[in-house]
Amino acid sequence: MTKKQLQRLDLIFKNEHDIEEILTKTFSKSNEEIINDLISSGLKGRGGAGFPTGLKWKLASEEETDSKYIICNADEGEPGTFKDREILSRVPHKVLAGMAVCARLIGARQGYIYLRGEYVFLRPQLLEVINEFHQLLDKIGLDFRVEIFLGSGAYICGEESALFESMEGKRGEPRNKPPFPTQQGYKSKPTVINNVETLAHTYSIFKYGADKFKDLGVQDSRGSKVFSVSGDTPIPGIYELEFGMSLQKFVDDFADGDAKAVQVGGASGFCVPRKKFEKTVIGYQGKLRGTSLPTGGSMMIFNSSRSMYNVLHNYLDFFVEESCGQCTPCRVGTQQLLLGIEAVKKGDQPSSYLDKLMELAEAMRITAKCGLGQSVANSFSSIVENFKEEMIY
Ligand code: SF4
Repeated sequence: MTKKQLQRLDLIFKNEHDIEEILTKTFSKSNEEIINDLISSGLKGRGGAGFPTGLKWKLASEEETDSKYIICNADEGEPGTFKDREILSRVPHKVLAGMAVCARLIGARQGYIYLRGEYVFLRPQLLEVINEFHQLLDKIGLDFRVEIFLGSGAYICGEESALFESMEGKRGEPRNKPPFPTQQGYKSKPTVINNVETLAHTYSIFKYGADKFKDLGVQDSRGSKVFSVSGDTPIPGIYELEFGMSLQKFVDDFADGDAKAVQVGGASGFCVPRKKFEKTVIGYQGKLRGTSLPTGGSMMIFNSSRSMYNVLHNYLDFFVEESCGQCTPCRVGTQQLLLGIEAVKKGDQPSSYLDKLMELAEAMRITAKCGLGQSVANSFSSIVENFKEEMIY
Protein backbone atom coordinates (compact mmCIF):
# COMPACT_ATOMS: atom_id res chain seq x y z
CA MET A 1 0.00 0.00 0.00
CA THR A 2 1.37 3.38 -0.93
CA LYS A 3 -0.01 6.66 0.30
CA LYS A 4 -0.95 7.53 -3.28
CA GLN A 5 -3.52 4.75 -3.42
CA LEU A 6 -5.47 6.23 -0.50
CA GLN A 7 -8.39 8.49 -1.25
CA ARG A 8 -7.01 11.44 0.67
CA LEU A 9 -8.68 14.81 0.52
CA ASP A 10 -6.88 18.10 0.44
CA LEU A 11 -9.35 20.67 1.69
CA ILE A 12 -7.70 21.54 4.98
CA PHE A 13 -4.06 21.28 3.99
CA LYS A 14 -4.26 22.92 0.57
CA ASN A 15 -2.05 25.95 1.02
CA GLU A 16 -4.19 28.79 -0.27
CA HIS A 17 -3.10 32.41 -0.34
CA ASP A 18 -6.40 34.21 -0.69
CA ILE A 19 -7.26 34.98 2.92
CA GLU A 20 -7.91 38.66 2.22
CA GLU A 21 -10.25 37.81 -0.64
CA ILE A 22 -12.12 35.19 1.40
CA LEU A 23 -12.49 37.46 4.42
CA THR A 24 -13.69 40.37 2.27
CA LYS A 25 -16.18 38.11 0.51
CA THR A 26 -17.44 36.66 3.81
CA PHE A 27 -17.68 40.06 5.50
CA SER A 28 -19.91 41.25 2.67
CA LYS A 29 -22.54 38.80 3.92
CA SER A 30 -24.90 39.39 6.80
CA ASN A 31 -24.48 37.49 10.06
CA GLU A 32 -27.63 35.59 9.28
CA GLU A 33 -26.26 34.44 5.92
CA ILE A 34 -22.98 33.29 7.49
CA ILE A 35 -24.81 31.37 10.20
CA ASN A 36 -27.14 29.80 7.65
CA ASP A 37 -24.14 28.73 5.57
CA LEU A 38 -22.51 27.10 8.57
CA ILE A 39 -25.67 25.39 9.71
CA SER A 40 -26.56 24.10 6.26
CA SER A 41 -22.99 22.84 5.74
CA GLY A 42 -23.57 20.45 8.64
CA LEU A 43 -20.20 21.31 10.21
CA LYS A 44 -19.88 19.89 13.72
CA GLY A 45 -17.07 20.34 16.23
CA ARG A 46 -13.99 18.30 15.37
CA GLY A 47 -12.61 18.20 18.89
CA GLY A 48 -14.72 15.19 19.78
CA ALA A 49 -18.03 16.41 21.17
CA GLY A 50 -19.57 17.22 17.78
CA PHE A 51 -21.67 20.28 18.65
CA PRO A 52 -23.01 22.08 15.51
CA THR A 53 -20.66 25.00 14.83
CA GLY A 54 -23.24 27.31 13.24
CA LEU A 55 -25.54 26.92 16.22
CA LYS A 56 -22.72 27.66 18.66
CA TRP A 57 -21.86 30.90 16.83
CA LYS A 58 -25.54 31.83 16.63
CA LEU A 59 -26.06 31.35 20.37
CA ALA A 60 -23.05 33.52 21.20
CA SER A 61 -24.16 36.20 18.73
CA GLU A 62 -27.52 36.47 20.49
CA GLU A 63 -26.00 37.28 23.89
CA GLU A 64 -26.07 40.96 24.78
CA THR A 65 -23.03 42.07 26.71
CA ASP A 66 -20.10 44.47 26.55
CA SER A 67 -17.43 41.90 25.65
CA LYS A 68 -17.18 38.43 24.16
CA TYR A 69 -14.36 36.08 23.24
CA ILE A 70 -13.42 33.54 20.63
CA ILE A 71 -10.98 30.85 21.72
CA CYS A 72 -9.25 28.31 19.51
CA ASN A 73 -8.78 25.16 21.55
CA ALA A 74 -5.34 23.85 20.61
CA ASP A 75 -4.84 21.88 23.82
CA GLU A 76 -4.56 18.67 21.88
CA GLY A 77 -3.91 16.09 24.59
CA GLU A 78 -5.90 13.00 23.68
CA PRO A 79 -3.49 10.07 23.39
CA GLY A 80 -2.90 9.26 19.74
CA THR A 81 -4.06 12.64 18.45
CA PHE A 82 -1.68 14.99 16.67
CA LYS A 83 -3.75 16.50 13.86
CA ASP A 84 -4.17 20.01 15.33
CA ARG A 85 -0.41 20.35 15.66
CA GLU A 86 -0.15 19.66 11.95
CA ILE A 87 -2.93 22.08 11.00
CA LEU A 88 -1.37 24.85 13.07
CA SER A 89 2.01 24.11 11.51
CA ARG A 90 0.85 24.07 7.93
CA VAL A 91 -2.26 26.24 7.55
CA PRO A 92 -2.55 28.48 10.66
CA HIS A 93 -3.94 31.35 8.54
CA LYS A 94 -7.10 29.32 7.88
CA VAL A 95 -7.65 28.91 11.62
CA LEU A 96 -7.14 32.64 12.16
CA ALA A 97 -9.55 33.45 9.33
CA GLY A 98 -12.22 31.32 11.02
CA MET A 99 -11.59 33.13 14.30
CA ALA A 100 -11.87 36.53 12.62
CA VAL A 101 -15.20 35.72 10.99
CA CYS A 102 -16.54 34.39 14.27
CA ALA A 103 -15.26 37.50 16.08
CA ARG A 104 -17.08 39.84 13.73
CA LEU A 105 -20.21 37.75 13.86
CA ILE A 106 -20.51 37.52 17.65
CA GLY A 107 -18.96 40.92 18.36
CA ALA A 108 -15.66 39.84 19.93
CA ARG A 109 -12.57 42.04 19.80
CA GLN A 110 -10.22 39.58 21.46
CA GLY A 111 -9.37 36.00 20.63
CA TYR A 112 -6.94 33.45 22.02
CA ILE A 113 -5.24 30.33 20.82
CA TYR A 114 -4.95 28.06 23.86
CA LEU A 115 -1.86 26.17 22.84
CA ARG A 116 -0.94 22.88 24.43
CA GLY A 117 2.17 23.40 26.58
CA GLU A 118 4.04 20.65 24.78
CA TYR A 119 3.51 22.53 21.51
CA VAL A 120 5.54 25.52 22.72
CA PHE A 121 7.85 24.99 19.74
CA LEU A 122 5.00 26.22 17.51
CA ARG A 123 4.74 29.56 19.27
CA PRO A 124 7.43 31.56 17.38
CA GLN A 125 6.04 30.72 13.96
CA LEU A 126 2.47 31.24 15.14
CA LEU A 127 3.35 34.68 16.52
CA GLU A 128 4.79 35.60 13.14
CA VAL A 129 1.62 34.51 11.35
CA ILE A 130 -0.54 36.34 13.90
CA ASN A 131 1.44 39.56 13.41
CA GLU A 132 0.93 39.38 9.66
CA PHE A 133 -2.72 38.59 10.22
CA HIS A 134 -3.17 41.63 12.44
CA GLN A 135 -1.84 43.80 9.60
CA LEU A 136 -4.43 42.27 7.28
CA LEU A 137 -7.19 42.91 9.83
CA ASP A 138 -6.10 46.55 10.07
CA LYS A 139 -6.23 46.79 6.30
CA ILE A 140 -9.76 45.46 6.07
CA GLY A 141 -10.88 47.36 9.14
CA LEU A 142 -11.67 44.65 11.68
CA ASP A 143 -10.93 45.54 15.29
CA PHE A 144 -9.81 42.11 16.48
CA ARG A 145 -6.63 40.76 18.04
CA VAL A 146 -5.40 37.24 18.72
CA GLU A 147 -3.02 36.18 21.48
CA ILE A 148 -1.50 32.85 22.37
CA PHE A 149 -2.11 31.38 25.83
CA LEU A 150 0.24 28.53 26.63
CA GLY A 151 -1.18 25.59 28.60
CA SER A 152 0.84 23.80 31.26
CA GLY A 153 0.40 20.19 30.28
CA ALA A 154 -2.85 19.14 31.99
CA TYR A 155 -5.10 16.96 29.83
CA ILE A 156 -8.21 18.22 31.61
CA CYS A 157 -7.55 21.76 30.40
CA GLY A 158 -8.72 20.64 26.97
CA GLU A 159 -12.19 20.56 28.53
CA GLU A 160 -13.60 23.97 27.70
CA SER A 161 -14.59 25.17 31.16
CA ALA A 162 -11.36 23.89 32.75
CA LEU A 163 -9.55 25.75 29.99
CA PHE A 164 -11.30 29.00 31.00
CA GLU A 165 -10.35 28.43 34.63
CA SER A 166 -6.76 27.89 33.62
CA MET A 167 -6.74 31.08 31.52
CA GLU A 168 -8.14 32.98 34.49
CA GLY A 169 -5.16 31.86 36.55
CA LYS A 170 -7.06 29.25 38.55
CA ARG A 171 -6.65 25.52 38.95
CA GLY A 172 -7.79 23.78 35.76
CA GLU A 173 -11.03 22.17 36.93
CA PRO A 174 -14.28 21.78 34.96
CA ARG A 175 -17.19 24.00 35.91
CA ASN A 176 -20.80 22.97 36.38
CA LYS A 177 -22.92 23.40 33.25
CA PRO A 178 -25.11 25.30 32.61
CA PRO A 179 -24.21 28.07 32.14
CA PHE A 180 -22.61 27.06 28.84
CA PRO A 181 -19.63 28.89 27.36
CA THR A 182 -21.76 30.80 24.85
CA GLN A 183 -23.54 32.26 27.90
CA GLN A 184 -20.70 32.54 30.41
CA GLY A 185 -17.28 31.39 29.31
CA TYR A 186 -13.91 33.08 29.68
CA LYS A 187 -14.10 35.79 32.39
CA SER A 188 -17.81 34.85 32.64
CA LYS A 189 -18.45 36.45 29.25
CA PRO A 190 -20.07 34.76 26.23
CA THR A 191 -17.34 32.76 24.55
CA VAL A 192 -17.14 30.66 21.45
CA ILE A 193 -14.58 27.91 21.87
CA ASN A 194 -13.79 25.86 18.79
CA ASN A 195 -11.27 23.19 18.03
CA VAL A 196 -8.40 24.02 15.63
CA GLU A 197 -9.72 21.76 12.90
CA THR A 198 -13.27 23.10 13.20
CA LEU A 199 -12.05 26.64 12.58
CA ALA A 200 -9.97 25.52 9.60
CA HIS A 201 -13.07 23.88 8.11
CA THR A 202 -15.03 27.13 8.37
CA TYR A 203 -12.50 28.63 5.98
CA SER A 204 -13.28 25.90 3.40
CA ILE A 205 -17.00 26.62 3.80
CA PHE A 206 -16.52 30.36 3.34
CA LYS A 207 -14.39 29.74 0.27
CA TYR A 208 -16.10 26.86 -1.49
CA GLY A 209 -19.62 27.13 -0.11
CA ALA A 210 -21.75 25.05 2.23
CA ASP A 211 -22.94 22.71 -0.54
CA LYS A 212 -19.48 21.57 -1.48
CA PHE A 213 -18.73 20.76 2.15
CA LYS A 214 -22.06 19.03 2.59
CA ASP A 215 -21.47 16.89 -0.49
CA LEU A 216 -18.76 15.09 1.44
CA GLY A 217 -19.62 12.58 4.15
CA VAL A 218 -22.89 10.93 5.07
CA GLN A 219 -26.14 11.64 6.91
CA ASP A 220 -25.29 13.75 9.94
CA SER A 221 -21.51 13.43 9.47
CA ARG A 222 -20.76 15.98 6.80
CA GLY A 223 -17.47 17.06 5.32
CA SER A 224 -13.99 15.73 5.66
CA LYS A 225 -12.11 14.82 8.82
CA VAL A 226 -8.45 14.88 9.68
CA PHE A 227 -7.35 11.62 11.30
CA SER A 228 -4.23 10.89 13.32
CA VAL A 229 -3.32 7.32 12.37
CA SER A 230 -0.90 5.44 14.61
CA GLY A 231 -0.07 2.03 16.02
CA ASP A 232 0.43 -1.03 13.86
CA THR A 233 0.38 0.59 10.47
CA PRO A 234 3.11 0.88 7.87
CA ILE A 235 1.89 4.39 7.07
CA PRO A 236 1.32 6.33 10.33
CA GLY A 237 0.53 10.01 9.97
CA ILE A 238 -2.15 12.61 9.32
CA TYR A 239 -4.85 11.91 6.75
CA GLU A 240 -7.81 13.97 5.63
CA LEU A 241 -10.55 11.52 4.68
CA GLU A 242 -14.25 11.62 3.98
CA PHE A 243 -16.60 10.80 6.83
CA GLY A 244 -18.70 7.67 6.46
CA MET A 245 -16.19 4.96 5.58
CA SER A 246 -16.49 1.62 7.30
CA LEU A 247 -13.81 0.68 9.77
CA GLN A 248 -13.11 -2.35 7.56
CA LYS A 249 -12.22 -0.06 4.67
CA PHE A 250 -10.04 1.99 7.00
CA VAL A 251 -8.22 -1.13 8.19
CA ASP A 252 -7.81 -2.41 4.62
CA ASP A 253 -6.15 0.86 3.71
CA PHE A 254 -4.02 1.45 6.78
CA ALA A 255 -3.32 -1.72 8.76
CA ASP A 256 -0.66 -4.29 8.09
CA GLY A 257 -3.20 -7.03 7.47
CA ASP A 258 -3.26 -8.38 11.00
CA ALA A 259 -5.35 -5.82 12.88
CA LYS A 260 -7.33 -7.25 15.76
CA ALA A 261 -8.67 -3.93 17.05
CA VAL A 262 -8.82 -0.22 16.37
CA GLN A 263 -9.12 2.32 19.14
CA VAL A 264 -11.32 5.05 17.72
CA GLY A 265 -11.11 8.41 19.47
CA GLY A 266 -8.08 7.89 21.69
CA ALA A 267 -8.04 6.71 25.29
CA SER A 268 -11.50 8.19 25.85
CA GLY A 269 -12.84 6.47 22.75
CA PHE A 270 -13.92 2.96 21.90
CA CYS A 271 -11.97 -0.16 21.11
CA VAL A 272 -13.56 -1.83 18.10
CA PRO A 273 -12.65 -5.51 17.61
CA ARG A 274 -12.14 -7.15 14.21
CA LYS A 275 -15.61 -8.74 14.15
CA LYS A 276 -17.20 -5.26 14.24
CA PHE A 277 -15.01 -3.58 11.60
CA GLU A 278 -17.49 -4.13 8.77
CA LYS A 279 -20.52 -2.62 10.45
CA THR A 280 -18.83 0.26 12.23
CA VAL A 281 -19.09 3.52 10.33
CA ILE A 282 -16.61 6.29 11.08
CA GLY A 283 -18.66 9.37 11.83
CA TYR A 284 -20.91 11.01 14.39
CA GLN A 285 -23.68 8.51 13.70
CA GLY A 286 -21.44 5.50 14.29
CA LYS A 287 -22.62 4.18 17.63
CA LEU A 288 -21.18 1.63 20.00
CA ARG A 289 -22.95 0.73 23.23
CA GLY A 290 -25.48 3.45 22.40
CA THR A 291 -22.88 6.18 22.48
CA SER A 292 -21.65 8.09 19.44
CA LEU A 293 -18.11 7.38 18.36
CA PRO A 294 -15.87 10.22 19.51
CA THR A 295 -14.71 12.12 16.46
CA GLY A 296 -11.52 13.75 17.63
CA GLY A 297 -9.71 11.81 14.94
CA SER A 298 -7.37 9.44 16.77
CA MET A 299 -7.18 6.01 15.14
CA MET A 300 -4.86 3.54 16.87
CA ILE A 301 -4.44 0.18 15.19
CA PHE A 302 -3.46 -2.89 17.22
CA ASN A 303 -2.34 -6.11 15.59
CA SER A 304 -2.46 -9.63 16.99
CA SER A 305 0.85 -9.34 18.81
CA ARG A 306 -0.46 -6.59 21.13
CA SER A 307 -1.66 -7.23 24.65
CA MET A 308 -5.01 -5.52 25.11
CA TYR A 309 -4.45 -5.80 28.86
CA ASN A 310 -1.37 -3.61 28.45
CA VAL A 311 -3.32 -1.21 26.25
CA LEU A 312 -6.06 -0.85 28.85
CA HIS A 313 -3.54 -0.59 31.70
CA ASN A 314 -1.84 2.20 29.82
CA TYR A 315 -5.12 4.11 29.35
CA LEU A 316 -6.07 3.72 33.00
CA ASP A 317 -2.64 4.89 34.12
CA PHE A 318 -3.23 7.95 31.99
CA PHE A 319 -6.68 8.64 33.47
CA VAL A 320 -5.48 8.19 37.05
CA GLU A 321 -2.72 10.69 36.34
CA GLU A 322 -4.94 13.19 34.53
CA SER A 323 -8.11 13.08 36.66
CA CYS A 324 -8.36 16.52 38.23
CA GLY A 325 -9.65 14.92 41.44
CA GLN A 326 -12.59 17.26 41.82
CA CYS A 327 -15.32 14.60 41.87
CA THR A 328 -15.26 11.27 43.68
CA PRO A 329 -16.54 8.93 40.92
CA CYS A 330 -13.61 9.84 38.71
CA ARG A 331 -10.91 10.40 41.34
CA VAL A 332 -11.60 7.09 43.10
CA GLY A 333 -13.13 5.21 40.19
CA THR A 334 -10.12 5.49 37.87
CA GLN A 335 -7.85 4.16 40.62
CA GLN A 336 -10.19 1.31 41.48
CA LEU A 337 -10.43 0.25 37.84
CA LEU A 338 -6.66 0.19 37.54
CA LEU A 339 -6.17 -1.74 40.79
CA GLY A 340 -9.03 -4.03 39.79
CA ILE A 341 -7.61 -5.17 36.46
CA GLU A 342 -4.21 -5.67 38.10
CA ALA A 343 -5.82 -7.88 40.76
CA VAL A 344 -7.63 -9.99 38.15
CA LYS A 345 -4.50 -10.33 36.04
CA LYS A 346 -2.51 -11.49 39.08
CA GLY A 347 -5.20 -13.97 40.07
CA ASP A 348 -6.00 -12.12 43.30
CA GLN A 349 -9.57 -11.64 42.08
CA PRO A 350 -11.74 -14.02 39.99
CA SER A 351 -12.57 -13.19 36.39
CA SER A 352 -16.15 -12.39 37.49
CA TYR A 353 -14.68 -9.33 39.22
CA LEU A 354 -14.39 -7.77 35.75
CA ASP A 355 -18.20 -7.57 35.67
CA LYS A 356 -18.16 -5.51 38.87
CA LEU A 357 -15.52 -3.25 37.36
CA MET A 358 -17.66 -2.74 34.28
CA GLU A 359 -20.55 -1.75 36.53
CA LEU A 360 -18.26 0.75 38.22
CA ALA A 361 -17.17 2.15 34.85
CA GLU A 362 -20.81 2.54 33.79
CA ALA A 363 -21.61 4.25 37.11
CA MET A 364 -18.80 6.70 36.35
CA ARG A 365 -20.37 7.42 32.97
CA ILE A 366 -23.52 8.57 34.77
CA THR A 367 -22.08 10.27 37.83
CA ALA A 368 -18.73 11.83 36.91
CA LYS A 369 -18.79 15.57 36.51
CA CYS A 370 -17.11 15.96 33.14
CA GLY A 371 -16.24 14.14 29.96
CA LEU A 372 -13.00 12.70 31.35
CA GLY A 373 -14.63 10.59 34.04
CA GLN A 374 -17.70 9.89 31.92
CA SER A 375 -15.72 8.53 28.99
CA VAL A 376 -13.42 6.17 30.90
CA ALA A 377 -16.15 3.55 30.45
CA ASN A 378 -15.80 3.79 26.66
CA SER A 379 -12.39 2.23 26.45
CA PHE A 380 -12.75 0.19 29.65
CA SER A 381 -15.96 -1.61 28.75
CA SER A 382 -15.18 -2.04 25.06
CA ILE A 383 -11.77 -3.59 25.79
CA VAL A 384 -12.92 -5.80 28.67
CA GLU A 385 -16.00 -7.00 26.80
CA ASN A 386 -14.16 -7.88 23.62
CA PHE A 387 -10.84 -9.09 25.03
CA LYS A 388 -11.84 -10.62 28.35
CA GLU A 389 -9.54 -13.61 27.85
CA GLU A 390 -6.55 -11.25 27.80
CA MET A 391 -7.54 -9.65 31.10
CA ILE A 392 -7.56 -12.82 33.22
CA TYR A 393 -4.82 -14.70 35.04
FE1 SF4 B 1 -12.21 16.13 37.44
FE2 SF4 B 1 -12.59 13.61 36.63
FE3 SF4 B 1 -14.51 14.86 37.91
FE4 SF4 B 1 -13.84 15.62 35.42
S1 SF4 B 1 -14.74 13.69 36.01
S2 SF4 B 1 -14.28 16.94 37.18
S3 SF4 B 1 -11.60 15.24 35.50
S4 SF4 B 1 -12.48 14.34 38.76
